[in-house]
Amino acid sequence: MSTASMGLHNRKQPHVTCRRCGKESYLKRKGYCSHCGYGKTAKVRQYAWLSKNVNGIRKH
Ligand SMILES: [Zn+2]
Repeated sequence: MSTASMGLHNRKQPHVTCRRCGKESYLKRKGYCSHCGYGKTAKVRQYAWLSKNVNGIRKH
């Protein structure tokens, strides 16, 4: 047995092109996009800490 041939078993790409963000991040098996959250949420994937980073300075 060689580890090289074992690696080839993982070569199959589970992601397909997402129809919302256009990235190859849509998981067909799970039915959602890991990049923008298409199929999981109606909104584009967004986190509170993300918008805080965009705004930069946090006020009291
Ligand atoms: Zn997407």
